[in-house]
Amino acid sequence: MYLIFEGKITKREKKYFQSFVEWTLKKYGMADAEISITLAAVPVEEMCGFSALCTQVEPDEYDIEFKQEFSLLMKMISISHEMVHVRQYYNKELAHRMRAGKWTTFWRRKAQPLNEDNYTYWDQPWEIEAHGLEKGQVIQWAMDTGHIKKKWMRESIEFLNPDGDLA
Ligand SMILES: [Zn+2]
Repeated sequence: MYLIFEGKITKREKKYFQSFVEWTLKKYGMADAEISITLAAVPVEEMCGFSALCTQVEPDEYDIEFKQEFSLLMKMISISHEMVHVRQYYNKELAHRMRAGKWTTFWRRKAQPLNEDNYTYWDQPWEIEAHGLEKGQVIQWAMDTGHIKKKWMRESIEFLNPDGDLA
């Protein structure tokens, strides 16, 4: 995996992001995947209303953009969310292809009935999975790597999960 940084990203952030991206790929069984990932911090006015985005540029090339103005924790959660989409694209669970002259989204090889009128972001299975994993992956990474002992991470986890797990 090749990791490329773009935009305003501090040395400390680069260290965390590299560790986190490597950790997620290992979790997904993709530690040896020959892919390149660009992490780009983008000013909010250039994000077209998105908090973060994942684009599959080529089958082995992914761009993750996130808001430059986000806190470190929100950047981590954004990268975490978008890494789920990287895995979904890489495993061909999620794909966007031209069909009958129209860009169509496929989930597990089934064309999704998406259009401007019925598009329900929160109900899409790929978004349910990404939202479901985004915070937990950051918490698990922090526990696995010892970052949990650092003050910013400990405080972040107390913020994310103030009352403990919901069983
Ligand atoms: Zn998403």
